[in-house]
Amino acid sequence: MAEEENQFEEFEQIDFLRDRHVRFFQRTLQVLPERYASLETTRLSILFFALSGLDVLDALEVVDSKVMIEWIYSQQVLPTQDKSNLNRGGFRGSAHIGIPYSTKGPGVLHPYDSGHVAMTYTGLCSLLILGDDLSRVNKEAVLAGLKVLQLEDGSFYAVPEGSENDIRFIYCAASICYMLDDWSGMDIQKAIDYIRGSLVSESLCDNSVTRVPGGWTYCAIASLCLMGRLDEALSPRELNRIRRWCIMRQQSGFHGRPNKPVDTCYSFWVGATLELLDVFQFTHFEKNRSFILSTQDRLVGGFAKWPDSHPDPLHAYLGLCGLSLIGEPDLKKVHPALNITQRAFQHLQQLQQTWRDNAGSCVGQQ
Ligand SMILES: [Zn+2]
Repeated sequence: MAEEENQFEEFEQIDFLRDRHVRFFQRTLQVLPERYASLETTRLSILFFALSGLDVLDALEVVDSKVMIEWIYSQQVLPTQDKSNLNRGGFRGSAHIGIPYSTKGPGVLHPYDSGHVAMTYTGLCSLLILGDDLSRVNKEAVLAGLKVLQLEDGSFYAVPEGSENDIRFIYCAASICYMLDDWSGMDIQKAIDYIRGSLVSESLCDNSVTRVPGGWTYCAIASLCLMGRLDEALSPRELNRIRRWCIMRQQSGFHGRPNKPVDTCYSFWVGATLELLDVFQFTHFEKNRSFILSTQDRLVGGFAKWPDSHPDPLHAYLGLCGLSLIGEPDLKKVHPALNITQRAFQHLQQLQQTWRDNAGSCVGQQ
């Protein structure tokens, strides 16, 4: 009897609890625990984790897309009548500064109102996931807002007032330009120089990229892929060093740098980097899967950073993406560079084709 129970436990341990995860993300969209109050200013990114999570689970039917799309557009910083705030464009994380609800222009001038590069990235992704055609995105304002965020060294601030500046925000900026099919919002060469500077100089001194954690390596490689400049920016030798360093990050799941514990989110950050570098197949899928599933919350759904910890929307989403990369059945495939499903990516490709066709016919009429 005891043996039977043990077998049952072992079986349950590797069971992927899809319906619990659907409910976890549904709850994330409805109500969040008090401990999330400090994340109010980045609410749009939490919405993205939940929506994209539901998309990976093929469960978007539980979402009222229309209401959600309107709310996302209400977070767009629209130009005022005189366009004096044009270079503050983009999406804000929530209505925390008290701008009246509006999805139509002209915008209202507020000294502290501006887009945030990570919110613009997650806002655009969320609109694509919901099947929106991005026709109400004010591209002029988004791209003008993006341009002023880039520093002389090629990196980006998150907001025009200044903030930390690093590769994460270059990644957001590259994703925004890629999605809008317009790179006028950034100086690509400067961004590449910054990425090279942080990735390669550190990798050369000790034959690895030890001081750039796995999440940043992802942002660097994914940005270069979105720009279509990976092979130009890094030599085959440098790429091989990065491949080797990333493969070495696997213990059971993955960690972000040597001597750190494995963490669910790195199954995506490092896994997707290896996928982009065409060597993900050389990792141990079963060990990776077992670790991710050991962080699954069997009661409320979602995944945590570590086993026996509280699940949170970021790790829940990236845990799912990690499982999707290794081909977990019934999960939609994830686009490794944009971090949305391949389904949402295909929707983007169709939109871009329409934009190009329309641009072509406009030129023809002139
Ligand atoms: Zn993590």
